[in-house]
Amino acid sequence: APEKLSEEDSMAVALGYKAVSTDVDAAKYASHKDDQLCKGCALWQGADAEWGGCSIFPGKLVSANGWCAAYAAKP
Ligand code: SF4
Repeated sequence: APEKLSEEDSMAVALGYKAVSTDVDAAKYASHKDDQLCKGCALWQGADAEWGGCSIFPGKLVSANGWCAAYAAKP
């Protein structure tokens, strides 16, 4: 089964991923908003689950309430 993405994963660090969106470094990611969540991102593949796939992090699970710099609001 896929593992949960670690915040220490090199890609995760590069994209400022946090499993809880409010933990994102606001100074570094000025465009981030606390209400931007993986489950509302166009790249989220988890439907209503707490953890789901993301095409940026193949083979890993990201948190429904997480965020990374590749966030793109669902159209
Ligand atoms: Fe979450 Fe979207 Fe970043 Fe994937 S691309 S980790 S779904 S914010």
